[in-house]
Amino acid sequence: MRTTRRTLTAAAGLLLLFAATVPASAQPPERGVYEISAGAQERVARAGVDVLGVRDGTLTVVASPAEVASLRAEGLDLRPVGDVDRVLAERNPDRRAAPGDFPAGDEGYHTYAEVTAELRQAAQDHGDVTALSSVGESFEGRALHLVKISDHVERDEAEPEVLFTCNQHAREHLTTEMCLHIVQRFTDSYGHDPVVTQFVDSREIYVIPTVNPDGAEYDIAGGRYQGWRKNRQGEGTDLNRNWGHRWGCCGGSSGHEGSETYRGTAAFSAPETKAVADFVDSRVVGGTQQITGHIDFHSYSELVLWPYGHTTDDVGEGMTPDQAQRLRSVGEEMAAANGYTPQQSSDLYVTDGDINDWMWGRHRILSFTFEMYPADGPGLDGFYPPDEQIRPQTERNDAAVDILLREAGADRA
Ligand SMILES: [Zn+2]
Repeated sequence: MRTTRRTLTAAAGLLLLFAATVPASAQPPERGVYEISAGAQERVARAGVDVLGVRDGTLTVVASPAEVASLRAEGLDLRPVGDVDRVLAERNPDRRAAPGDFPAGDEGYHTYAEVTAELRQAAQDHGDVTALSSVGESFEGRALHLVKISDHVERDEAEPEVLFTCNQHAREHLTTEMCLHIVQRFTDSYGHDPVVTQFVDSREIYVIPTVNPDGAEYDIAGGRYQGWRKNRQGEGTDLNRNWGHRWGCCGGSSGHEGSETYRGTAAFSAPETKAVADFVDSRVVGGTQQITGHIDFHSYSELVLWPYGHTTDDVGEGMTPDQAQRLRSVGEEMAAANGYTPQQSSDLYVTDGDINDWMWGRHRILSFTFEMYPADGPGLDGFYPPDEQIRPQTERNDAAVDILLREAGADRA
Protein backbone atom coordinates (compact mmCIF):
# COMPACT_ATOMS: atom_id res chain seq x y z
CA MET A 1 0.00 0.00 0.00
CA ARG A 2 2.86 2.35 0.78
CA THR A 3 4.36 1.73 -2.66
CA THR A 4 1.02 2.33 -4.30
CA ARG A 5 0.66 5.63 -2.54
CA ARG A 6 4.09 6.77 -3.59
CA THR A 7 3.25 5.88 -7.17
CA LEU A 8 0.00 7.81 -7.00
CA THR A 9 1.71 10.86 -5.58
CA ALA A 10 4.39 10.68 -8.25
CA ALA A 11 1.77 10.38 -10.98
CA ALA A 12 -0.14 13.37 -9.63
CA GLY A 13 3.10 15.34 -9.52
CA LEU A 14 3.79 14.51 -13.16
CA LEU A 15 0.30 15.65 -14.10
CA LEU A 16 0.83 18.97 -12.35
CA LEU A 17 4.19 19.39 -14.07
CA PHE A 18 2.58 18.65 -17.41
CA ALA A 19 -0.22 21.12 -16.77
CA ALA A 20 2.30 23.79 -15.82
CA THR A 21 4.35 23.41 -19.01
CA VAL A 22 1.47 23.33 -21.50
CA PRO A 23 0.06 26.82 -22.13
CA ALA A 24 -3.69 27.32 -22.07
CA SER A 25 -5.06 27.33 -25.60
CA ALA A 26 -8.33 28.12 -27.34
CA GLN A 27 -9.08 24.39 -27.54
CA PRO A 28 -12.26 23.25 -25.77
CA PRO A 29 -11.37 22.03 -22.28
CA GLU A 30 -10.48 18.37 -21.83
CA ARG A 31 -13.31 18.21 -19.30
CA GLY A 32 -15.89 20.96 -19.64
CA VAL A 33 -18.91 21.63 -17.43
CA TYR A 34 -22.15 22.13 -19.36
CA GLU A 35 -25.83 22.67 -18.64
CA ILE A 36 -28.47 20.87 -20.66
CA SER A 37 -32.16 21.79 -20.53
CA ALA A 38 -35.12 19.63 -19.58
CA GLY A 39 -36.08 16.52 -21.50
CA ALA A 40 -32.57 15.31 -22.28
CA GLN A 41 -32.09 12.88 -19.39
CA GLU A 42 -32.47 9.68 -21.39
CA ARG A 43 -30.09 10.64 -24.18
CA VAL A 44 -27.54 12.04 -21.77
CA ALA A 45 -27.57 8.90 -19.59
CA ARG A 46 -27.25 6.75 -22.69
CA ALA A 47 -24.20 8.73 -23.81
CA GLY A 48 -22.46 7.83 -20.54
CA VAL A 49 -21.49 11.39 -19.66
CA ASP A 50 -20.94 12.39 -16.06
CA VAL A 51 -24.10 13.97 -14.61
CA LEU A 52 -23.12 16.16 -11.67
CA GLY A 53 -26.57 17.26 -10.64
CA VAL A 54 -30.11 17.85 -11.77
CA ARG A 55 -32.34 20.76 -10.82
CA ASP A 56 -35.80 21.38 -12.24
CA GLY A 57 -34.91 19.24 -15.23
CA THR A 58 -31.68 21.09 -16.02
CA LEU A 59 -28.69 18.76 -16.01
CA THR A 60 -25.18 19.82 -15.15
CA VAL A 61 -22.71 17.47 -16.83
CA VAL A 62 -18.99 17.03 -17.38
CA ALA A 63 -18.19 16.12 -20.98
CA SER A 64 -15.15 15.68 -23.19
CA PRO A 65 -14.99 17.46 -26.57
CA ALA A 66 -16.00 14.21 -28.32
CA GLU A 67 -19.01 13.76 -26.03
CA VAL A 68 -20.03 17.38 -26.57
CA ALA A 69 -19.84 16.93 -30.34
CA SER A 70 -21.94 13.77 -30.32
CA LEU A 71 -24.61 15.23 -28.01
CA ARG A 72 -24.81 18.38 -30.13
CA ALA A 73 -25.13 16.20 -33.23
CA GLU A 74 -28.23 14.73 -31.58
CA GLY A 75 -29.67 18.21 -31.37
CA LEU A 76 -29.08 18.85 -27.67
CA ASP A 77 -28.31 22.37 -26.52
CA LEU A 78 -25.17 22.30 -24.34
CA ARG A 79 -24.30 25.57 -22.64
CA PRO A 80 -20.72 25.77 -21.41
CA VAL A 81 -20.50 26.69 -17.73
CA GLY A 82 -16.80 26.21 -17.17
CA ASP A 83 -13.64 24.25 -17.52
CA VAL A 84 -13.28 21.52 -14.89
CA ASP A 85 -9.67 22.22 -14.09
CA ARG A 86 -10.28 25.94 -13.85
CA VAL A 87 -13.28 25.37 -11.57
CA LEU A 88 -11.18 23.12 -9.36
CA ALA A 89 -8.34 25.63 -9.31
CA GLU A 90 -10.76 28.38 -8.25
CA ARG A 91 -12.05 26.12 -5.53
CA ASN A 92 -8.56 25.88 -4.08
CA PRO A 93 -6.50 28.88 -5.06
CA ASP A 94 -3.04 28.43 -3.58
CA ARG A 95 -4.38 26.22 -0.87
CA ARG A 96 -2.02 23.32 -1.36
CA ALA A 97 -1.89 20.80 1.42
CA ALA A 98 0.63 18.13 2.20
CA PRO A 99 0.34 15.28 -0.35
CA GLY A 100 -2.46 12.95 0.66
CA ASP A 101 -4.27 15.48 2.82
CA PHE A 102 -7.31 17.62 2.04
CA PRO A 103 -6.53 21.09 0.73
CA ALA A 104 -5.77 23.63 3.45
CA GLY A 105 -8.99 24.99 4.89
CA ASP A 106 -10.83 21.67 4.42
CA GLU A 107 -8.96 19.72 7.12
CA GLY A 108 -12.29 18.97 8.79
CA TYR A 109 -12.74 16.23 6.19
CA HIS A 110 -11.25 12.84 7.04
CA THR A 111 -8.58 11.16 4.93
CA TYR A 112 -8.63 7.37 4.81
CA ALA A 113 -6.02 7.20 7.59
CA GLU A 114 -8.13 9.53 9.71
CA VAL A 115 -11.31 7.54 9.03
CA THR A 116 -9.47 4.41 10.12
CA ALA A 117 -8.24 6.10 13.31
CA GLU A 118 -11.74 7.43 14.15
CA LEU A 119 -13.31 4.01 13.76
CA ARG A 120 -10.63 2.32 15.88
CA GLN A 121 -11.19 4.96 18.55
CA ALA A 122 -14.97 4.42 18.51
CA ALA A 123 -14.50 0.66 18.80
CA GLN A 124 -12.07 1.16 21.67
CA ASP A 125 -14.17 3.73 23.57
CA HIS A 126 -17.49 1.94 23.07
CA GLY A 127 -16.47 -1.71 22.82
CA ASP A 128 -19.69 -2.81 24.53
CA VAL A 129 -21.75 -1.74 21.51
CA THR A 130 -19.20 -1.34 18.69
CA ALA A 131 -17.21 -3.82 16.61
CA LEU A 132 -14.84 -2.90 13.77
CA SER A 133 -14.03 -5.34 10.98
CA SER A 134 -14.00 -5.17 7.19
CA VAL A 135 -15.97 -6.65 4.30
CA GLY A 136 -12.80 -7.06 2.23
CA GLU A 137 -10.27 -4.94 0.39
CA SER A 138 -10.31 -2.32 -2.33
CA PHE A 139 -8.49 -2.81 -5.65
CA GLU A 140 -5.37 -1.19 -4.18
CA GLY A 141 -5.63 -3.22 -0.98
CA ARG A 142 -7.23 -0.83 1.50
CA ALA A 143 -9.57 -2.37 4.07
CA LEU A 144 -13.26 -1.69 3.40
CA HIS A 145 -14.17 -0.93 7.00
CA LEU A 146 -17.36 -2.33 8.50
CA VAL A 147 -18.69 -1.04 11.80
CA LYS A 148 -21.38 -2.96 13.68
CA ILE A 149 -23.27 -1.11 16.41
CA SER A 150 -25.67 -3.01 18.68
CA ASP A 151 -26.07 -4.15 22.24
CA HIS A 152 -24.40 -7.56 22.74
CA VAL A 153 -22.41 -6.58 19.66
CA GLU A 154 -20.41 -9.81 19.67
CA ARG A 155 -23.55 -11.91 19.23
CA ASP A 156 -25.80 -12.25 16.18
CA GLU A 157 -29.13 -11.50 17.81
CA ALA A 158 -32.55 -11.84 16.20
CA GLU A 159 -32.89 -8.09 15.57
CA PRO A 160 -33.66 -6.22 12.34
CA GLU A 161 -30.44 -5.17 10.62
CA VAL A 162 -29.84 -1.86 8.87
CA LEU A 163 -26.98 -0.93 6.53
CA PHE A 164 -25.55 2.49 5.72
CA THR A 165 -23.02 2.80 2.87
CA CYS A 166 -21.06 5.90 1.83
CA ASN A 167 -18.54 7.16 -0.70
CA GLN A 168 -19.10 4.82 -3.65
CA HIS A 169 -18.17 7.88 -5.68
CA ALA A 170 -14.70 9.13 -4.80
CA ARG A 171 -15.22 12.91 -4.81
CA GLU A 172 -18.38 12.76 -2.66
CA HIS A 173 -16.38 13.27 0.53
CA LEU A 174 -19.30 14.72 2.48
CA THR A 175 -20.89 11.24 2.42
CA THR A 176 -17.95 9.68 4.27
CA GLU A 177 -18.53 12.30 6.95
CA MET A 178 -22.21 11.26 7.00
CA CYS A 179 -21.31 7.65 7.81
CA LEU A 180 -18.77 8.77 10.42
CA HIS A 181 -21.47 10.94 11.98
CA ILE A 182 -23.82 7.94 12.17
CA VAL A 183 -21.10 5.92 13.90
CA GLN A 184 -20.34 8.73 16.35
CA ARG A 185 -23.99 9.44 17.11
CA PHE A 186 -24.98 5.85 17.83
CA THR A 187 -21.90 5.21 19.95
CA ASP A 188 -21.32 8.50 21.83
CA SER A 189 -25.02 9.02 22.64
CA TYR A 190 -25.75 5.42 23.64
CA GLY A 191 -27.05 5.39 27.20
CA HIS A 192 -27.70 9.15 27.10
CA ASP A 193 -30.10 9.78 24.22
CA PRO A 194 -33.24 7.59 24.60
CA VAL A 195 -33.90 7.38 20.83
CA VAL A 196 -30.33 6.29 20.10
CA THR A 197 -30.32 3.84 23.01
CA GLN A 198 -33.57 2.24 21.90
CA PHE A 199 -32.30 1.71 18.34
CA VAL A 200 -28.93 0.33 19.45
CA ASP A 201 -30.75 -2.08 21.79
CA SER A 202 -33.28 -3.24 19.20
CA ARG A 203 -31.37 -3.17 15.89
CA GLU A 204 -28.07 -4.28 14.45
CA ILE A 205 -26.65 -1.21 12.69
CA TYR A 206 -23.95 -1.74 10.04
CA VAL A 207 -21.97 1.15 8.56
CA ILE A 208 -19.46 1.05 5.68
CA PRO A 209 -18.02 4.61 5.70
CA THR A 210 -16.04 4.37 2.47
CA VAL A 211 -16.82 1.89 -0.29
CA ASN A 212 -14.26 3.57 -2.57
CA PRO A 213 -11.20 4.49 -0.48
CA ASP A 214 -8.78 4.26 -3.44
CA GLY A 215 -10.77 6.81 -5.42
CA ALA A 216 -11.22 9.11 -2.43
CA GLU A 217 -7.47 9.10 -1.71
CA TYR A 218 -6.67 9.70 -5.38
CA ASP A 219 -9.10 12.63 -5.43
CA ILE A 220 -7.03 14.50 -2.84
CA ALA A 221 -3.57 13.24 -3.83
CA GLY A 222 -1.37 16.17 -4.76
CA GLY A 223 -3.07 18.56 -2.40
CA ARG A 224 -5.86 19.67 -4.71
CA TYR A 225 -9.14 18.12 -5.77
CA GLN A 226 -9.21 16.03 -8.94
CA GLY A 227 -12.98 15.71 -9.45
CA TRP A 228 -12.54 11.91 -9.53
CA ARG A 229 -15.65 9.69 -9.44
CA LYS A 230 -14.74 6.05 -10.15
CA ASN A 231 -12.56 3.43 -8.47
CA ARG A 232 -8.89 2.98 -9.43
CA GLN A 233 -9.05 -0.28 -11.37
CA GLY A 234 -7.69 0.41 -14.88
CA GLU A 235 -9.26 3.65 -16.07
CA GLY A 236 -11.78 3.25 -13.28
CA THR A 237 -15.16 1.58 -12.89
CA ASP A 238 -18.23 3.51 -11.77
CA LEU A 239 -19.04 1.41 -8.71
CA ASN A 240 -22.67 2.48 -8.74
CA ARG A 241 -23.14 0.96 -12.22
CA ASN A 242 -21.39 -2.33 -11.35
CA TRP A 243 -24.05 -4.03 -9.18
CA GLY A 244 -25.55 -7.29 -10.40
CA HIS A 245 -29.26 -6.65 -10.81
CA ARG A 246 -30.05 -6.05 -14.52
CA TRP A 247 -26.40 -4.97 -14.92
CA GLY A 248 -25.95 -2.98 -18.14
CA CYS A 249 -29.52 -3.72 -19.19
CA CYS A 250 -31.08 -0.46 -20.08
CA GLY A 251 -28.82 2.27 -21.41
CA GLY A 252 -28.16 3.60 -17.91
CA SER A 253 -24.38 3.04 -17.92
CA SER A 254 -21.49 2.96 -20.38
CA GLY A 255 -19.46 0.12 -21.88
CA HIS A 256 -16.53 2.45 -22.62
CA GLU A 257 -13.76 2.28 -20.08
CA GLY A 258 -13.01 5.99 -20.30
CA SER A 259 -16.58 6.98 -19.53
CA GLU A 260 -17.47 8.35 -16.10
CA THR A 261 -20.32 5.82 -15.92
CA TYR A 262 -18.29 2.79 -17.07
CA ARG A 263 -20.08 -0.29 -15.73
CA GLY A 264 -17.01 -2.58 -15.66
CA THR A 265 -16.32 -5.79 -17.56
CA ALA A 266 -19.01 -7.75 -15.71
CA ALA A 267 -21.36 -7.36 -12.79
CA PHE A 268 -19.22 -7.13 -9.63
CA SER A 269 -15.98 -6.90 -11.62
CA ALA A 270 -14.95 -4.24 -9.08
CA PRO A 271 -13.62 -5.78 -5.85
CA GLU A 272 -15.36 -3.06 -3.82
CA THR A 273 -18.92 -3.84 -4.98
CA LYS A 274 -18.20 -7.58 -4.81
CA ALA A 275 -17.05 -7.32 -1.18
CA VAL A 276 -20.08 -5.30 -0.07
CA ALA A 277 -22.46 -7.62 -1.97
CA ASP A 278 -20.83 -10.72 -0.42
CA PHE A 279 -21.37 -9.19 3.01
CA VAL A 280 -25.04 -8.50 2.29
CA ASP A 281 -25.48 -12.02 0.87
CA SER A 282 -23.91 -13.37 4.07
CA ARG A 283 -26.70 -11.79 6.11
CA VAL A 284 -29.18 -14.35 4.81
CA VAL A 285 -29.71 -16.49 7.90
CA GLY A 286 -32.03 -19.50 7.78
CA GLY A 287 -33.22 -18.40 4.36
CA THR A 288 -34.15 -14.88 5.50
CA GLN A 289 -32.23 -11.69 4.69
CA GLN A 290 -31.63 -9.98 8.03
CA ILE A 291 -30.98 -6.51 6.57
CA THR A 292 -34.32 -4.80 6.07
CA GLY A 293 -33.29 -1.18 5.51
CA HIS A 294 -30.45 0.56 3.66
CA ILE A 295 -29.35 4.05 2.69
CA ASP A 296 -26.51 4.75 0.24
CA PHE A 297 -25.25 8.32 0.57
CA HIS A 298 -24.16 10.41 -2.42
CA SER A 299 -23.81 14.07 -3.25
CA TYR A 300 -25.15 16.31 -4.53
CA SER A 301 -28.72 17.61 -5.36
CA GLU A 302 -30.63 17.10 -2.05
CA LEU A 303 -32.77 14.19 -3.21
CA VAL A 304 -34.23 11.03 -1.67
CA LEU A 305 -34.39 8.32 -4.36
CA TRP A 306 -35.90 4.84 -4.33
CA PRO A 307 -35.75 1.88 -6.77
CA TYR A 308 -35.92 1.13 -9.49
CA GLY A 309 -33.38 3.09 -11.50
CA HIS A 310 -33.32 0.81 -14.54
CA THR A 311 -36.98 1.25 -15.44
CA THR A 312 -39.38 4.18 -15.37
CA ASP A 313 -42.21 1.80 -14.40
CA ASP A 314 -43.50 2.76 -10.95
CA VAL A 315 -44.02 -0.92 -10.09
CA GLY A 316 -41.06 -2.85 -11.49
CA GLU A 317 -40.64 -6.62 -11.71
CA GLY A 318 -40.22 -8.32 -8.33
CA MET A 319 -42.27 -5.58 -6.67
CA THR A 320 -45.93 -5.54 -5.69
CA PRO A 321 -47.96 -2.32 -5.89
CA ASP A 322 -47.99 -2.28 -2.06
CA GLN A 323 -44.22 -2.58 -1.93
CA ALA A 324 -43.79 0.19 -4.50
CA GLN A 325 -46.12 2.35 -2.43
CA ARG A 326 -44.14 1.60 0.72
CA LEU A 327 -40.84 2.62 -0.91
CA ARG A 328 -42.49 5.85 -2.01
CA SER A 329 -44.14 6.66 1.32
CA VAL A 330 -41.02 5.97 3.41
CA GLY A 331 -38.97 7.99 0.92
CA GLU A 332 -41.40 10.89 1.13
CA GLU A 333 -41.45 10.77 4.92
CA MET A 334 -37.64 10.90 5.10
CA ALA A 335 -37.58 13.76 2.57
CA ALA A 336 -40.07 15.70 4.67
CA ALA A 337 -37.67 15.27 7.59
CA ASN A 338 -34.51 16.53 5.85
CA GLY A 339 -36.00 18.90 3.30
CA TYR A 340 -34.76 16.98 0.25
CA THR A 341 -36.88 16.30 -2.83
CA PRO A 342 -38.33 12.75 -3.02
CA GLN A 343 -38.59 10.81 -6.27
CA GLN A 344 -38.15 7.41 -7.86
CA SER A 345 -34.54 7.02 -9.00
CA SER A 346 -35.43 6.76 -12.71
CA ASP A 347 -37.36 10.04 -12.55
CA LEU A 348 -33.91 11.65 -12.46
CA TYR A 349 -32.46 9.60 -15.32
CA VAL A 350 -32.23 5.88 -16.02
CA THR A 351 -29.36 4.08 -14.31
CA ASP A 352 -28.59 0.38 -14.41
CA GLY A 353 -26.36 -1.62 -12.11
CA ASP A 354 -26.93 0.69 -9.15
CA ILE A 355 -26.89 -0.41 -5.54
CA ASN A 356 -30.57 0.23 -4.76
CA ASP A 357 -31.77 -1.90 -7.67
CA TRP A 358 -29.63 -4.79 -6.42
CA MET A 359 -30.63 -4.39 -2.76
CA TRP A 360 -34.29 -4.52 -3.70
CA GLY A 361 -34.10 -6.80 -6.75
CA ARG A 362 -31.99 -9.46 -5.05
CA HIS A 363 -32.90 -9.11 -1.37
CA ARG A 364 -36.09 -6.99 -1.10
CA ILE A 365 -34.26 -4.57 1.16
CA LEU A 366 -35.96 -1.18 1.60
CA SER A 367 -33.13 0.71 -0.08
CA PHE A 368 -32.67 4.42 -0.74
CA THR A 369 -30.13 6.84 -2.13
CA PHE A 370 -29.70 10.21 -0.47
CA GLU A 371 -28.09 12.88 -2.64
CA MET A 372 -26.76 15.30 -0.01
CA TYR A 373 -26.06 19.03 0.12
CA PRO A 374 -25.97 21.27 -1.86
CA ALA A 375 -29.22 21.43 -3.84
CA ASP A 376 -27.26 22.73 -6.79
CA GLY A 377 -23.91 24.25 -7.51
CA PRO A 378 -21.76 25.56 -10.31
CA GLY A 379 -20.68 22.17 -11.57
CA LEU A 380 -17.94 20.33 -9.72
CA ASP A 381 -17.91 22.89 -6.92
CA GLY A 382 -20.97 21.14 -5.48
CA PHE A 383 -18.83 18.15 -4.51
CA TYR A 384 -16.57 20.23 -2.31
CA PRO A 385 -18.60 22.18 0.25
CA PRO A 386 -16.44 23.88 2.88
CA ASP A 387 -15.84 21.77 5.97
CA GLU A 388 -18.06 24.11 8.01
CA GLN A 389 -20.96 22.34 6.29
CA ILE A 390 -20.04 18.89 7.63
CA ARG A 391 -21.82 19.23 10.95
CA PRO A 392 -25.08 20.89 9.84
CA GLN A 393 -25.43 18.73 6.72
CA THR A 394 -24.85 15.42 8.51
CA GLU A 395 -27.04 16.28 11.53
CA ARG A 396 -29.72 17.34 9.06
CA ASN A 397 -30.23 13.63 8.26
CA ASP A 398 -30.61 12.38 11.85
CA ALA A 399 -34.41 12.30 11.75
CA ALA A 400 -34.46 10.61 8.33
CA VAL A 401 -31.97 7.97 9.51
CA ASP A 402 -34.25 7.33 12.52
CA ILE A 403 -37.24 6.86 10.20
CA LEU A 404 -35.33 4.19 8.30
CA LEU A 405 -34.34 2.46 11.55
CA ARG A 406 -37.98 2.48 12.65
CA GLU A 407 -39.20 1.12 9.29
CA ALA A 408 -36.57 -1.61 9.34
CA GLY A 409 -38.43 -3.09 12.30
CA ALA A 410 -41.85 -2.99 10.62
CA ASP A 411 -43.35 -6.06 9.04
CA ARG A 412 -42.61 -6.31 5.38
CA ALA A 413 -45.43 -5.44 3.03
ZN1 LIG B 1 -22.61 9.53 -6.28
